[in-house]
Amino acid sequence: MNLRKFEEKVWLSTPTMHGDEIKYIREAYETNWMSTVGKNIDEIEKAVAEKVDCKCSVALSCGTAALHLAVKLAGVKKGDRVFCSDMTFAATLNSVVYEGAEPIFIDTEYDTWNMDPNALERAFELYPDVKVVVLANLYGTPSKFDEICDICKKHNAVMVEDAAESFGATYKGRQTGTFGKYNVISFNGNKIITGSSGGMLLTNDINAAAKARKWSTQSRENAPWYQHEEIGYNYRMSNVIAGVVRGQLPYLEEHITQKKKIYERYRDGFKDLPVSMNPYDEETMVPNFWLSCMLIDKDAMCKQVRTSSSATYVKEKGKTCPTEILEKLMEYNAEGRPIWKPMHMQPIYEKNQFITVGDKDVGKDIFARGLCLPSDIKMTEEEQDVIINIVRSCFE
Ligand SMILES: *Cc1c(COP(=O)(O)O)cnc(C)c1O
Repeated sequence: MNLRKFEEKVWLSTPTMHGDEIKYIREAYETNWMSTVGKNIDEIEKAVAEKVDCKCSVALSCGTAALHLAVKLAGVKKGDRVFCSDMTFAATLNSVVYEGAEPIFIDTEYDTWNMDPNALERAFELYPDVKVVVLANLYGTPSKFDEICDICKKHNAVMVEDAAESFGATYKGRQTGTFGKYNVISFNGNKIITGSSGGMLLTNDINAAAKARKWSTQSRENAPWYQHEEIGYNYRMSNVIAGVVRGQLPYLEEHITQKKKIYERYRDGFKDLPVSMNPYDEETMVPNFWLSCMLIDKDAMCKQVRTSSSATYVKEKGKTCPTEILEKLMEYNAEGRPIWKPMHMQPIYEKNQFITVGDKDVGKDIFARGLCLPSDIKMTEEEQDVIINIVRSCFE
């Protein structure tokens, strides 16, 4: 096997521009709409609402800001308990903590790597008074929405859907970012399409959208002077950023097609290895394939030890672990990443409840055996074949 270090780094997931972005930025510049109002913002709010088929969209400075407003709209207050995805990026639940509420983490299931409906049901048995569930679609794969929505409905809970990673993915033909009462997408630089930053709140509740708009512009009341009756935020998206998003939106489906090709090339390349890819249900889901991930079979794992800040492993013939593969990738100038470390394993949430079924800890297991592979759409097939061979070499 001929392996050579990449001259140019192969990335996990980086922005890919197409040309129109600069046109819309320039338009904002030349007309002096260098502000948090302007045509680019209006156009992308319209286009995204149409794309996902929801009534209202509010363009915001980032997905995290959108999540903050979503959590406030859901009525989360100081001291409340809120059920949250456990294996996710911290931004999913940071806003719950901003509001002084307590996240209770719900374990993950193996079919989609998202919130386990059985663990959620169990959580409601333990805490029947909880009124809000915040859930993320990890790596672009939709959650088991039929089950999750039924459970939320049964317990009269509001669902906030963090679709930051899954924009463009569908569940039973319906776009993610529409299953919650309040929903969030992100245009961060590493997402499926980007504004360099930015995010959006999506909802069918017209009054809620109006409230979010008001909160996001410092909660100014309708008066001749700056009049305030409630706390506000400076969360509105810039018209320049919106120009980038506007240029990217027509390429969403193309990016998804390219990401899917990457996923399938890995899957085929690993066919005879003791591994599997991040899974989804082909009957009900079309992911956006944002990140391709792999999970090493239990009996193909060598010993791996992770402390709070470092990792080591003991090499065994025919076996490997995420640490070895990630080190190898780095050696060849390619960027992989561990699975998002579950929240119940994070020092900051040491004291928070973690709810699972039986004595399982699915998040911990996927974190131990899984990793994110380079999934950049600018990666060539030849480069991806080298990545595949690098991974294969770890199993020798
Ligand atoms: C990226 C991301 C966010 C945050 O979006 P920003 O636009 O970066 O603030 C929230 N949740 C998840 C799951 C994400 O991956």
